[in-house]
Amino acid sequence: MDISSFRFLVVEDHSFQRWFMGNLLQELGAGSVLLAADGSVALELLATSRPPIDVVITDLDMPRMDGMELIRHMAGRNHAASLIVVSALEHSLVGTVEVMAQEYGVRFLGALAKPLTAKKLRDVLGSHPSARGAPRPTQIAPLLTAGEVDEGLQRGEFEAFFQPTVEIKSGQAEGAEALARWRHPTKGLIYPDLFIPVVESSGLMDELTRKMTRDAASNCHAWREAGFDMTVSVNLSPGLLSDLSLADRMTALVKDSGLEARHVTFEITESTAASELGKELENLARLRMKGFGLSIDDFGTGHSSMERLTRIPFTELKIDQSFVKGASRHPSRRAVVESSLELARKLGIAAVAEGVDKRAEWDLLLGLGCTLAQGYFLAQPMEATAFGEWLAVRRQDTA
Ligand code: C2E
Ligand code: CA
Ligand code: CA
Repeated sequence: MDISSFRFLVVEDHSFQRWFMGNLLQELGAGSVLLAADGSVALELLATSRPPIDVVITDLDMPRMDGMELIRHMAGRNHAASLIVVSALEHSLVGTVEVMAQEYGVRFLGALAKPLTAKKLRDVLGSHPSARGAPRPTQIAPLLTAGEVDEGLQRGEFEAFFQPTVEIKSGQAEGAEALARWRHPTKGLIYPDLFIPVVESSGLMDELTRKMTRDAASNCHAWREAGFDMTVSVNLSPGLLSDLSLADRMTALVKDSGLEARHVTFEITESTAASELGKELENLARLRMKGFGLSIDDFGTGHSSMERLTRIPFTELKIDQSFVKGASRHPSRRAVVESSLELARKLGIAAVAEGVDKRAEWDLLLGLGCTLAQGYFLAQPMEATAFGEWLAVRRQDTA
């Protein structure tokens, strides 16, 4: 990648290491490189450098201000610079700093073990946002009211996008997850993180879910008619499970579209509100009895994930993205992925790894015997027509 327009700041107390890193960057073609022997000088340079610094490369273990404190101050002052951590410290500690930086809102490009090499640096710089197509525009939160969401639903502005789940061994798509999008007439395409909370709090989730289930079922029916052996998944908010008419209504909806229940899976996250457990279990048992698949979403993140596994007839578990992402570099994440796979195997249910966005994770999952994966590495969520075309191209490519 071309880094000739980048301005770097190297923060390292050890003078030889500092010089060495500066030299490496220059060899790689860096536009300009500033050097700081400690955190205070670094913050000063960050504040005053014109043009601004694009990438900060910092050591962690430094006298006076350590790398963690520097990162916290960077976040507090809203510097837009990306961060690379170079350290001789143990892997799990560096992993903690990565999560810490992300929590503080600093864009983390990667952690590199000393000794630093040109190859390591080049690889990690490749993940700078200017080096790849930005997957999704960052949305400035538009204020959405319950009234607006309701109108949007009435006007039919919500639709399902589809993201494939792919069988890792064969590369064949086997299913798709329906993900809600709002095509707002003036605000553009709005993603669920912005409207789901409003939908949830204004009692509109049932309506949205019906719309999503209809979209999912009719599209899956069409794919199957076109000769693709596909299933489809719909997210089911746990709050809906206290309505005892849910299972029958969902069954009728799916039947109306000509699809069989066994081709539809409902993904359920752990409920946060105090749930009505009896009703929840009655609904889930009925859905399963009608033939639907039941998936435990974001597996591993809720403290009662294990308990839920023992009392709900799940047919699938979706390993949360936070464990899958970076599993090839972080032994602790990899351990969680491995034991989730082991658990699924023992229970005789399917396991899907979510958030696979790099080849390294794909290769790791293949090696671990994980059967199904979903993530940007394979495809982003697409509108229904684009998804149909994607399926056709994929079939040709993997034939
Ligand atoms: P989720 O069910 O965990 O869905 C997966 C989310 O991860 C989707 O975000 C998907 O676009 C994103 N994703 C997939 N692969 C990757 C990857 O490789 N990297 C990264 N960074 N992200 C990836 P999306 O579409 O924004 O949906 C967010 C959440 O909103 C969903 O999380 C789900 O909890 C909720 N949601 C979406 N549609 C519905 C719906 O119809 N009903 C309900 N109740 N919730 C929904
Ligand atoms: Ca899901
Ligand atoms: Ca999930």
